[in-house]
Amino acid sequence: MDLYSGHINKLIEELAALPGIGNKSAQRLAFHLINMPNDKVQRLASTIVEAKENVRYCKECYTLTDRDVCPVCANKNRNHGLIMVVENTRDLAAYEKTGKYEGVYHVLHGAISPMLGIGPGDIKLKELIQRLQGQVEEVIIATNSSLEGETTAMYIGKMIKPTGIKVTRIASGVPVGGDLEYIDEVTLLRALEGRTEL
Ligand code: ZN
Repeated sequence: MDLYSGHINKLIEELAALPGIGNKSAQRLAFHLINMPNDKVQRLASTIVEAKENVRYCKECYTLTDRDVCPVCANKNRNHGLIMVVENTRDLAAYEKTGKYEGVYHVLHGAISPMLGIGPGDIKLKELIQRLQGQVEEVIIATNSSLEGETTAMYIGKMIKPTGIKVTRIASGVPVGGDLEYIDEVTLLRALEGRTEL
């Protein structure tokens, strides 16, 4: 399509490659950006670059953070023997919003999906096993109730069982296929409280 300038086409292409942004939204955003004042565009661009350069994985739980160790892991009042395994940082944030969970987390950054070619080695599972060398009372598996989330939960359950560490799965009050981040706090707490041993 040669209707737009090459630069606009490139911008549309880059935006359309982002998750959840179709071609129409990409076009709308591209024109919006072009019409924005220069300083605002500069600020947006540098915010993206700075975030990318400064955000890293927490050394302990692998959530995304600005520091070596995230605020949850750095908090001595949290129960470090209780580890909740979640798929991503957004899920961690959803549980943190309830304000009721006192343990720490482990962020996998994905879930096992044979269909998408994502295997156990592609998510932070090795790192989870390493953490189990420490004093761990219980591992709560809070992956989504999607096929991938369930596959991952089963895999982790089987992996941890032989160690003798208690391993539980959150209750399936969470809608099938529902992303944890969209679920209200009451449902999350109910799922957590109703967890069962694997
Ligand atoms: Zn952490």
